[in-house]
Amino acid sequence: MKLNRIVVVGGSIAALTAAETLRIEGFDGSITVLSDEKVPPYTRVPLSKSALAGRESEDDLTLPAMSDDVDLRLHTRAEGLDVHRRLVHTREGSVPFDGLVIATGARARTVGHRRGGERVLRDIEHSRSLRADLATASSVLVVGGGFLGMEIASTCRELGKDVTVVDREPPLERLLGPLVGARIRDAAHLAGVRIRVAAGDVELVGGKTPSGARIANDEVLEADMVVSAVGDLPNIEWLLGSGLRLNGGVLVDAWCRARPNIVAAGDVAVQAGPDGSSRRTPSWTNAIEQARAAAQALLRAESAAPYRPSHYYWTEQFGLDVKMVGPPGSDGTPTISEGSLDCPPALLEWHTSGTAYRVVALNHGIRPAKLKRLVPAHHSRAVLR
Ligand SMILES: Cc1cc2nc3c(=O)[nH]c(=O)nc-3n(C[C@H](O)[C@H](O)[C@H](O)COP(=O)(O)OP(=O)(O)OC[C@H]3O[C@@H](n4cnc5c(N)ncnc54)[C@H](O)[C@@H]3O)c2cc1C
Repeated sequence: MKLNRIVVVGGSIAALTAAETLRIEGFDGSITVLSDEKVPPYTRVPLSKSALAGRESEDDLTLPAMSDDVDLRLHTRAEGLDVHRRLVHTREGSVPFDGLVIATGARARTVGHRRGGERVLRDIEHSRSLRADLATASSVLVVGGGFLGMEIASTCRELGKDVTVVDREPPLERLLGPLVGARIRDAAHLAGVRIRVAAGDVELVGGKTPSGARIANDEVLEADMVVSAVGDLPNIEWLLGSGLRLNGGVLVDAWCRARPNIVAAGDVAVQAGPDGSSRRTPSWTNAIEQARAAAQALLRAESAAPYRPSHYYWTEQFGLDVKMVGPPGSDGTPTISEGSLDCPPALLEWHTSGTAYRVVALNHGIRPAKLKRLVPAHHSRAVLR
């Protein structure tokens, strides 16, 4: 079918990349981007790092503008999808399409404070209000010790706050394994962060805005400011009832397709593996790479290359720059192939049958492209499955 009108729903890196890729690939029909944000696309990555620390301004975060021939409609929320009549419904009216890119990403998950009001960090408005609250807070409790929670803890320490992180597991262990996880926790301790591993669920306490967290034995950890960093939830509610397969995200095939004329990319997409398993890959690099692949597949169907995630992640915290390729996990024991974990730079490799399936670089100048080459793509996919 000839595509004349492509609609992209989303206002961040996957949406921007998809729109730009469509033009690069020669699509000369209309492109309409519907974003529910009030501001043009910006990078979220510094929101927990340099922007939270005040080292970068909001203007610095703005991504390159979309081409003039892309109709970017801000403050326009997609509220429903009719796949048969090919319409995206918004409050301002329905927008017709021949091809659709779903790039609605994810929002912050909350712990579930019974009075609402949890502080989270997902967008520029959250970042603004966190910074305002930080100005008067002297202590911060971060609930959740994943990449985001530990980055927030690191930045708050940099700002001189008294910082505690609480999680049900030792922070970063599930993502980076015991060895690297412990190395980063050591750096956090050295920076003055307290880490508490709660035996069971963590319950937020306090008024409208939480002022602490109850952990095992009724112990309450209190702080001037409590931030929840407990993961994300894909923005799929507007697709309920559309007939698309939603399984913790928009389920797509190897070409990022939910239908021949509908693709999804970025944090909202769940890619099915050949064995029936499926997973989201929420990361900045994945959003870019998958949006490129999705746009190409929309235009060229199966003559486009199937999408193969490179599984490249990075984080910066407590003076450590961590780059990783391969599926996150705590399996296996790495070999230190370069440098020293005690005194990075260090390069760690996880192998199976003589081939690397995961590599982690700590304060190592290796370029991402070279790091990716250390892990054959097919191999990291095989391990994932
Ligand atoms: C604070 C922070 C720090 C991070 N740091 C890193 C990092 O160091 N490294 C890394 O790899 N990743 C990092 N990430 C993750 C990375 O930012 C995300 O993986 C990436 O932004 C995903 O891009 P996306 O376009 O798929 O989705 P999102 O960035 O979630 O964008 C989705 C867009 O769609 C819009 N939208 C949602 N629903 C609708 C609707 N119904 N109608 C219209 N528009 C809608 C949203 O408002 C948003 O603009 C970080 C994320 C955060 C929040």
